[in-house]
Amino acid sequence: MNDVILTLNAGSSSIKFAAYRVESENLTALATGLVDGIGGAATFSVTLTGGRADKRAIAGSGPVDHKAALAAVIGWLNQSQQDCRIAAIGHRVVHGGPDFAKPILIDDLRLAQLRDLTPLAPLHQPHNLAGVDAARHAFPDATQVACFDTAFHRSHPFIADTFALPRQYYDQGIRRYGFHGLSYEFITKRLRTVAPELAAGRVIIAHLGNGASMCALREGKSISSTMGFTALDGLPMGTRCGQLDPGVVLYLITQKGMTPESVSDLLYNDCGLKGMSGLSNDMRVLADSASPRVREALQYFVARIRHELGGLAADLGGVDAIVFTGGIGEHSWSTRQAVLRGMEWLGIQLDDSANERGEQTISTPQSTTRVFVLPTDEERMIAEHTAAIAQSSGRLEHYRP
Ligand code: AMP
Repeated sequence: MNDVILTLNAGSSSIKFAAYRVESENLTALATGLVDGIGGAATFSVTLTGGRADKRAIAGSGPVDHKAALAAVIGWLNQSQQDCRIAAIGHRVVHGGPDFAKPILIDDLRLAQLRDLTPLAPLHQPHNLAGVDAARHAFPDATQVACFDTAFHRSHPFIADTFALPRQYYDQGIRRYGFHGLSYEFITKRLRTVAPELAAGRVIIAHLGNGASMCALREGKSISSTMGFTALDGLPMGTRCGQLDPGVVLYLITQKGMTPESVSDLLYNDCGLKGMSGLSNDMRVLADSASPRVREALQYFVARIRHELGGLAADLGGVDAIVFTGGIGEHSWSTRQAVLRGMEWLGIQLDDSANERGEQTISTPQSTTRVFVLPTDEERMIAEHTAAIAQSSGRLEHYRP
């Protein structure tokens, strides 16, 4: 019987999943997949490690809910992985609040505590927890683990965690939590292998994907991040606004008659690269366009990244290494080039041809600040945490990473 770790990232209308076989010393990726269209006519797609892909509609009489979506994942696992036992399930949960600084074993008490955090992330937490409910129902014997996007940033000093509001609001939980923590943790681990001497120093990671943020790390610990109370702050993103004067929100509500719900919809879904360009949130589409609005959107995106790079470098008192990751960070050489152009004052000398080829190191040997491109893998980070917790609770005795 093979032990399998399943990772789930349940959103409002989709569940992303990945499956790993537990070997004695490592986790072997079997497949990644997606159930999309939850709430309506859903589709199931999976890509096996090695490349074979499969996509099909999920048959059923009515709209597909999280339970039915998970049943499709289970059906696929049972069919494709003979002799397997789901030993543990790792859930991506967006919010761990002020207290959870690492992944946790989920039990009834912990689940109630996570539900209490819903007001901090009303658009995401309920869907993450619907995935937990469905998985606990389907696999009552499996170890269930919650891995948080916020946990990695709990090492922030108070000044990076607070707003300039009266202290009572901080005490009520209105803080700069930071997000993308699983990605930062994975990259930090990778950097320890790629350049251990630099990983112990001052590092800035730019996670540039559909969601985008940056993080400053000292000795592998997050000390500052561009995302704040919600995943709206900081850099402009695919459809989110990034940094915004809170007066704009007040103006839209009091002077323009917008409801809080419509402002929320605007800021999460219709701003950023999509809103500014009027074309798309997809960098590949934007890179091919000559429209002046698209150019302005891309220039704004780059300018904000450069601005934050300077700010995070100041927080660190200098920078030894910069890492680009996320779909744009990994693949868009032109974005990396535009961000790093004229940054010699920060010790950065870009190797243009290494950058265009997308090599792992894109700075010249003379560059005092080294620059890397490293693919992130949040699912593997979740799987590793989940396997470690399952192992320490006596479930995966043969696993010794
Ligand atoms: P993520 O959210 O990390 O999956 O990243 C999604 C973003 O990465 C989208 O804006 C994509 O357009 C962008 N992206 C993915 N592949 C490429 C590529 N080959 N070149 C440029 N941008 C890319």
